[in-house]
Amino acid sequence: MSKKTIASLNPSGLRVLVRVDFNVPVENGQITDDRRIREALPTIKSIIDRGGKAILMSHMGRPEGTGFEAEFSLTIAGERLSQLLGKPVAFPNHDCTDAAAAVAAMKNGEVLLLENLRFHKAEKKGDPAFAAKLAAYGDIYVNDAFGTCHRPDASMVAVPKAMAGKPRVCGFLVEKEIKFLSATIANPVKPFIVVLGGAKVSDKLAAVEHLMPKADQIIIGGAMAYTFLAAMGKNVGTSKIESDRIPDATRIIDLDKKMKVEILLPVDHVCSTQFAERSGDIEVFDNEIKDGFMGLDIGPKTQTKFALALRKAKTIVWNGPMGVFEWSPFSQGTQQVAKAIAEATKNGATSIVGGGDSAAAVEKFNLADKMSHVSTGGGASLEMLEGKKFESVELLDNG
Ligand code: ADP
Ligand code: MG
Repeated sequence: MSKKTIASLNPSGLRVLVRVDFNVPVENGQITDDRRIREALPTIKSIIDRGGKAILMSHMGRPEGTGFEAEFSLTIAGERLSQLLGKPVAFPNHDCTDAAAAVAAMKNGEVLLLENLRFHKAEKKGDPAFAAKLAAYGDIYVNDAFGTCHRPDASMVAVPKAMAGKPRVCGFLVEKEIKFLSATIANPVKPFIVVLGGAKVSDKLAAVEHLMPKADQIIIGGAMAYTFLAAMGKNVGTSKIESDRIPDATRIIDLDKKMKVEILLPVDHVCSTQFAERSGDIEVFDNEIKDGFMGLDIGPKTQTKFALALRKAKTIVWNGPMGVFEWSPFSQGTQQVAKAIAEATKNGATSIVGGGDSAAAVEKFNLADKMSHVSTGGGASLEMLEGKKFESVELLDNG
């Protein structure tokens, strides 16, 4: 069932409490990727442009939960938001539960950002007394924190529960994420190809099993491919396999024979003698990997094979890089797959990229704007691909 969004409400003169996800990466005092802040702008603007008061709340990092810690202050996100909006963002103090006076003093069209919710342990605990204090700031509750939607934290669940009877709706980012990660995939235009990669098979098993009945092809690369290849009896050298998942891999390969779906695995591998960017001996092997070498990227034949398949797709979901794309000798596989997906998108396919590292990879290769949708959620997007429902979304008003 579709959820009501902020577009259907009139926020004029009202206090709109918005849970955003401003948990942005910060290095040396600088935000290295402000996408989550930029993606929250449509919701914030829609509130303030119509004369509402936007009270924003978020977490950032993993503080102790015993009070203010400068390292995890949201001031940096507030400054960036202020630049992007071209107007001041009020930042009351270092305690999100002590903002009642600041909220009461807000004028229509103003924006206020509360300090990091996780400075209180109560946020992670979902504590109702803490939630009640936050709930008192708002006449309307908006969830636009897609990256946190899979978590039952106080601001995600207990706060909207405490606001029962008041409007509780989705922001535009959450609406867009659900549209792509759930609705598009529920009825995909065929051929539907799922591309999975990344560090661990165990992370992606639930997604594989949920998507297998819907997909025409499942492309598997990254470290997870080696567990599948090992399950098929191939020599994978010292590649990062998960031995305890070999039975799962075998089961999935058997399912592939029973279902209409086809699993595509790498046929050649860029390997090294060390898990390092440059210090090992780098060699490409067909099929079997020589002892003493580990697979760190898909090889050129595999890149071509995967690209050919992707070119025919009409819906593509991608989660997990094809290799250690952070290191240039092993970045080609991920880059070529990203390019093939971009090309398919140009030819009319819907492409959805989920996963924090996959999103970072498409940004790195300057292909993010060539995809239909790059999710702002890592864990949340993966859980959507597993078909899970989120309490934080379920409890919002139906549209
Ligand atoms: P995402 O965040 O997109 O879901 P993951 O977190 O599952 O992706 O995996 C990303 C990581 O997997 C990257 O840091 C990448 O270096 C690593 N990786 C990919 N292929 C390999 C490989 N063959 N061996 C070791 N690590 C790999
Ligand atoms: Mg990751």
